[in-house]
Amino acid sequence: DAVLQLDGVRKSYNVGTPVETEVLHGIDLSLSAHEFVALTGPSGSGKSTLLNLIGLLERPSAGRLVIDGHDTAALDDAALTALRGHTIGFVFQYHHLLPAFTALENVLLPSIITHGVATPEAEARAAELLTRVGLGAAMAKRPGELSGGMQQRVAIARALSLRPRLILADEPTGNLDTASADAVFELLRAFNRDHGSACLIVTHDPRLAARCDRIIELVDGRIVGEAERRPNPNTP
Ligand code: ADP
Ligand code: ADP
Repeated sequence: DAVLQLDGVRKSYNVGTPVETEVLHGIDLSLSAHEFVALTGPSGSGKSTLLNLIGLLERPSAGRLVIDGHDTAALDDAALTALRGHTIGFVFQYHHLLPAFTALENVLLPSIITHGVATPEAEARAAELLTRVGLGAAMAKRPGELSGGMQQRVAIARALSLRPRLILADEPTGNLDTASADAVFELLRAFNRDHGSACLIVTHDPRLAARCDRIIELVDGRIVGEAERRPNPNTP
């Protein structure tokens, strides 16, 4: 039950120009539902590019990318957007919360974007998620009134609001102190455990990577090492 499958995926920038560069050189990768996987590698190795491809924000130049059973090459842009909305939750290093909206409204945004309306069910779920991340008392506050760690927890609640099968997290703890980073990491881990959402997390923190099921390392656009898979207590 792979939620994600890449076969020979390549990505080039500036195609057809004198500065055409291939930055991903044939990536093979499979992620099953329930897996919690770290993606590491030096700056410039292609981590963000890979996450953008998997997140359906950019298309591969070659190779096959299958998300939740859908071969993405066969989908037009509108279908990709729909698949992204229903399948993938994003958490970024800089949370990209909208400053003029409350925490609750920020968590409701994916529902509004995807369904055009925040239903009472979506509101109840957003409130429940904020409570779960420890922000039950801060729902009406705007991002500027919250600490960095709290803002990142709002971003996680937002990413989880549509119950994604796959969570993509690009250095979600990169700008947090150790205690806040641990709390944010554990929230993602708990959601992975309780709801079986697969998670691919870019991290430079070896401490956090060691707590994932598997570590994938990118160097110069290639997967160089895949740490031995640990038994995953979540996998039946
Ligand atoms: P981008 O994806 O935009 O190219 P990177 O993923 O390379 O950026 O880096 C994101 C952030 O992590 C940057 O702020 C960068 O300074 C920091 N960073 C990059 N490499 C390391 C590293 N090895 N250790 C700690 N921080 C790093
Ligand atoms: P990482 O996230 O590991 O730091 P990136 O995926 O950001 O790596 O970058 C991988 C390589 O691709 C780098 O050499 C970077 O300069 C290049 N790159 C990234 N985005 C673009 C782009 N839009 N156009 C051209 N080159 C890019």
